[in-house]
Amino acid sequence: MTYQHSYARSIADPEAFWAEQADHLAWQRKPRLTLQNNPDGSHRWFADGRLNSCYLALDHQIEQGRGEQTALIYDSPVTVAQQAFSYLQLRDEVARLAGLLRELGVRKGDGVIIYMPMVPQAAMAMLACARIGAVHSVVFGGFAANELALRIDDARPTLLLTASCGLEFERVIEYKPLVDRALQLARHQPRQVLVLQRPQALATLQPGRDLDWQQALQNAQPVAPVELDAGDPLYIMYTSGTTGKPKGIVRENGGNAVALSFAMRHIYGMQAGDVWWGISDVGWVVGHSLIVYGPLMSGCTTVFYEGKPIRTPDASAYWRVIEQYRVNALFCAPTAMRAIRKEDPDGRLIAGHDLSSLRQLFLAGEKLDSSTHEWLERVTGKPVHDHWWQTETGWPVTAPCVGLEGSAARPGSSNRAVPGYHVQVLDDEGRVLGPNQQGAIVIALPLPPGCSQTLWGDHPRYLQAYLQTYPGYYHTGDGGYLDDDGFVYIMGRTDDVINVSGHRLSTGEMEDLVARHPAVAECAVIGVHDDIKGQVPLALVVLKDGEVVAEQQLQQELVASVREQIGALACFSQVRRVKRLPKTRSGKTLRAVLRKIADGVAYVPPSTLDDPAVLGEIEAVLADLPRAG
Ligand code: AMP
Repeated sequence: MTYQHSYARSIADPEAFWAEQADHLAWQRKPRLTLQNNPDGSHRWFADGRLNSCYLALDHQIEQGRGEQTALIYDSPVTVAQQAFSYLQLRDEVARLAGLLRELGVRKGDGVIIYMPMVPQAAMAMLACARIGAVHSVVFGGFAANELALRIDDARPTLLLTASCGLEFERVIEYKPLVDRALQLARHQPRQVLVLQRPQALATLQPGRDLDWQQALQNAQPVAPVELDAGDPLYIMYTSGTTGKPKGIVRENGGNAVALSFAMRHIYGMQAGDVWWGISDVGWVVGHSLIVYGPLMSGCTTVFYEGKPIRTPDASAYWRVIEQYRVNALFCAPTAMRAIRKEDPDGRLIAGHDLSSLRQLFLAGEKLDSSTHEWLERVTGKPVHDHWWQTETGWPVTAPCVGLEGSAARPGSSNRAVPGYHVQVLDDEGRVLGPNQQGAIVIALPLPPGCSQTLWGDHPRYLQAYLQTYPGYYHTGDGGYLDDDGFVYIMGRTDDVINVSGHRLSTGEMEDLVARHPAVAECAVIGVHDDIKGQVPLALVVLKDGEVVAEQQLQQELVASVREQIGALACFSQVRRVKRLPKTRSGKTLRAVLRKIADGVAYVPPSTLDDPAVLGEIEAVLADLPRAG
């Protein structure tokens, strides 16, 4: 099967294509109906199929003879712990935990909130929910009480699972006071709270409501996986929307299993027995698709890492893990690699680590600037692939299909559309644009299996946010273009496109150029007000450690570079040095906040902001900018 052939078939006859893919899965009842179209534009995949995601991830793997193979490796430099679970061990742990959940009154279809750090019990909790058909919603451990309360009120969980603390470098972050506060704020109350006590901080339990995880588990009886409809929800994953209320993305069991099996094999080129490392947190979509469900359903060994790219203990942490567990491929966000590069620009810490097991690296979550891309390929000597997806899709939209045929990467592109995704570019009026024309990136319906088809308890909002902007298409919210050969270039969220004297320009493109400067560690380019041109770009740059380049010289060099690469029409002339950029806890630069500070408009610090102190620093640096009106 080649990429070209596969892609063409998936678009010409999605039903036949996905029926064939679904055939690889160990269904409890094979679907006869592949695709049904709802009148509102959403879809139902595999409507009459029956399956269980936990069975596919564990029991089925054991039945295939992988019982003794390591399923999950827990590596925690912050607690100096390392532990391996075979498929048999993991299945037994999960089956007992599922039994406990059921004893505690959790039933099929009930919501369960998991607010936990990167400990293996978090993965076990997800799988235990899946085993009994409960719908888990993992809330990233770093979210504050108010955000947790919002999610509790939306998901209306029967049970909340948490741990006494998380660890961030040398800091112990107590979770239980946050949970207690969230439960004070929330209108909905779960019946019980199950607390995993970690030795770094013991939580105080509220009698009658809170239970000690290990004690409660002692007498629990294992339970078998239940049979579920393909359309039954597996999980809810909250992601920020344009309003303060987070959107509860719903993932279905059937589509998710088919899509992830396809992705692990054909995009990431992984086979059963391979070692896979998804570097993220269970609190994000990557944690669901590429730490827990994808690798386990594919019979791989998954590395579960409670650490950081740097300072746990240093910038060699990733290389140590790859060598120690013979990792074959990994997923990570560019921001992590930029952090490593800042501390180890010449890759000296890589030397001395045996990376021979590693076949390739996949990066996504934000634009992979070509400077970081080239650096990473140079210092690792391995192919580095950019690919693009969203919480909503749950698996890659554009990617190299290394398991199909693979094709040479094009710098700046996140590769071609994956089979199943008919990616197109539209102008403001919804007309399809040709190659090399920049506009809104959309996906022609139907979306392939795995993509969210609704929001938890709010289907109208799903339709309004994704399907109604351009009828017949899913609206990704990203802007960009396709080249003559169908390679996709993501230029950032549609609101990151700026308009300079009537020319539409991408700040992403400029960022790419600025980041190539040898003194620059990372940067953000935003549009700022200009009385004549409407907007002009401004670059905020963070220098690499130890760089002493004069501000004026840096400015001259960057201006020359953008002028040469993009042209004078970009009107790129402003560069400001900052110590750091405002980031979400998952590492995305908060450009919308930067824009608001630059425009001098009121803003509410986003709840996802890593460190609010950075906003004051940025405000000081941008205080003298001209403002609109
Ligand atoms: P999230 O749902 O939080 O994972 O964010 C998805 C968004 O991140 C996308 O809509 C893009 O704006 C951005 N994104 C993800 N991967 C890439 C990539 N490879 N290149 C550019 N932007 C990306």
